[in-house]
Amino acid sequence: MNTRSQRSNLSPSKIAMFEQCPKRLWLSEHHPELGDQNEGVGPSFNSDDEVRALTRRLMPGGKRIEADPDLRAAVETTRGLLDNGYDRPIFAAALEHDGVIVRIDILEPTGNGAWRIVEVKSSTRSKRHYLSNVATILWVADNSQLTISSAAIRHIDSSFVLESEGEYIGLFKDTEIKADLTKVAAKRIKIVRAARSVVANAEPDTQPGFQCNAPVTCEFVGYCHASLPPEPDWPVTVLPHGGGKRWLAQNVTDLLTINPEDLTNELQRRVHQATTTGEPFHDVEGARLAMAGWAYPRTWLDFETIAFAVPRWIGTRPYQQVPFQFSAHVETIEGALDHGDFLSIDGADPRRPCAEALVKLIPLTGAVIAYNASFEKRCILELATNFPDLKGELSSIADRLVDLLPVTRANWYHRDQRGSWSIKAVLPTVDPGLNYDGLDVRDGKAAQLAYLESVSTDTTADRRQVIDQALRAYCGRDTQAMIAVASRLCRSR
Ligand code: SF4
Repeated sequence: MNTRSQRSNLSPSKIAMFEQCPKRLWLSEHHPELGDQNEGVGPSFNSDDEVRALTRRLMPGGKRIEADPDLRAAVETTRGLLDNGYDRPIFAAALEHDGVIVRIDILEPTGNGAWRIVEVKSSTRSKRHYLSNVATILWVADNSQLTISSAAIRHIDSSFVLESEGEYIGLFKDTEIKADLTKVAAKRIKIVRAARSVVANAEPDTQPGFQCNAPVTCEFVGYCHASLPPEPDWPVTVLPHGGGKRWLAQNVTDLLTINPEDLTNELQRRVHQATTTGEPFHDVEGARLAMAGWAYPRTWLDFETIAFAVPRWIGTRPYQQVPFQFSAHVETIEGALDHGDFLSIDGADPRRPCAEALVKLIPLTGAVIAYNASFEKRCILELATNFPDLKGELSSIADRLVDLLPVTRANWYHRDQRGSWSIKAVLPTVDPGLNYDGLDVRDGKAAQLAYLESVSTDTTADRRQVIDQALRAYCGRDTQAMIAVASRLCRSR
């Protein structure tokens, strides 16, 4: 047994790893290189750092503890402040007990020498798995002779609306959690010892299971799952709407071994039949009937949106989906297609120019077709509320929206969709020649990352031009894909 490992420093996040899966802790200590290295590369949506910086700005007069040259120095600096009667907020306070070093987002004085622990999160509510971290912090604080009067998760209040630039008072809401934690914190000592024992011993023989994705997706999924026997070609997990869970619970993994009569609904039976026979399910009459009422000129519409934890534009809420791009193909009854689009990637509020472009490019009559149209509808109605002078035209567009997704789901299934009716899953089964392969942006998440890169002050004009073209090509492909899917659904061959 390794003496150093027995006494290795642990942090709240390492202890949370142990609670999720002992092997995750062991791998993170001994072979971190086996984890998913892609996380955190390039622009990302991790907003926790941004909201922490903002909470500090909203509490002037506090002191931030730097980990310079290392965490132990941060512990000493914090201890020095506490021992000398410091009575202002301390940010990133560092405490140590029994080899466990914790950083506390905010340690806030509450009077009479007592303190409040505040952990800051970019989510819109407190989540159960945050409690492990705070329980560890509470245990360390209690054993550092600190009087803790309360503990809270400070998260985003989703009802906040940015009224004026830089005015973020009211963006955060505290959920009190100390009452939930006192008993949990008292058990930390046993958990810390067990975690240390895992680190000091050989790799645990934990088999992959539900813990791999709960409460968070483990970074070692690729490593651990590689040692499992290969999946069947057609696993039960292709059954839609989580239909495979019931079979997995009975140790049935191969869809082809299931008796279709044991399936609980028509959609699952359809997926089973298309998979076992290799023949797509196609109700051409059903598709034609569903689309017969879609008046010409038809506008095929697709949005790309961005959502920020900390709203950037006046009148927006946290995580509000703001459209920064759309593609619109307008199709006449004769089959002629006209393409128009809108894109705003300079960081300015895109809503007004987007609303104006919608009004300009979408004809006054005819169906407006989207894939999962409730999303586009919500965005357009939000724009109508924001711009009363365009409300009539925007509401008319929203009223004429129809949805290609349920028509596809009801009338088409090819086994290569593998249980999904997303446009990216359906397109290769209806028109393999039309795909996303040659594009620099290939999905919605990549589009959002491209947007973030473009609005960054570090991005050059030349690079922004490249992103502009990549985004236009991607969004335009989405509306082309919808046309291809609708066309195939209405043809018998
Ligand atoms: S992938 Fe699953 S089994 Fe492997 S370390 Fe992570 S949680 Fe544990």
